[in-house]
Amino acid sequence: MADNAPLTLDLPDEAATCRLGAALAELARPDDLIALWGDLGAGKTTLARAFIRQWTNDAQLCVPSPTFTLVQIYDSIRGKVWHVDLYRLKTPDEVFELGWEEACGQNLVLLEWPQRIETLLPSKRLDLRLSHDQGGRRAVLQGCPDWSPRLAQAMLGG
Ligand code: ADP
Ligand code: MG
Repeated sequence: MADNAPLTLDLPDEAATCRLGAALAELARPDDLIALWGDLGAGKTTLARAFIRQWTNDAQLCVPSPTFTLVQIYDSIRGKVWHVDLYRLKTPDEVFELGWEEACGQNLVLLEWPQRIETLLPSKRLDLRLSHDQGGRRAVLQGCPDWSPRLAQAMLGG
């Protein structure tokens, strides 16, 4: 795969979204930021939940949507995961009250509604765009150069 070329995947059902989330957990590093773009109901929380369950090695872990709390933090031997949902953020600056600077670069961050802080997003990140596609979903992944070899490796591995 060429550097930064987007990778498009069809996710015909919820299980496919969960498999993608779990696969990304195996590729991710403890300081990664994954920006989850997509409308309400696109599957961002579903994917994040599968990611976190894989990351923490706890298939039953309760992973609520952070829409109201804005942040949920999970601990594991791989490092902390911040699951962030900025849907309710009114101004980008409010993100600093959540400890954004502490989170980024030191923890793995799964970010729903990244468009709320678009100008503040670090360039070192993976963008994952989810959209409705007939009954299922489509995912388009595009990472900084740091991510491309990892995604290519995952494609080769099936
Ligand atoms: P978001 O966080 O983007 O608002 P959620 O993950 O909370 O979305 O909800 C998405 C809904 O879509 C859930 O009901 C989930 O079961 C469903 N869903 C997730 N992935 C798929 C898919 N690939 N095909 C069909 N339905 C899906
Ligand atoms: Mg959500």
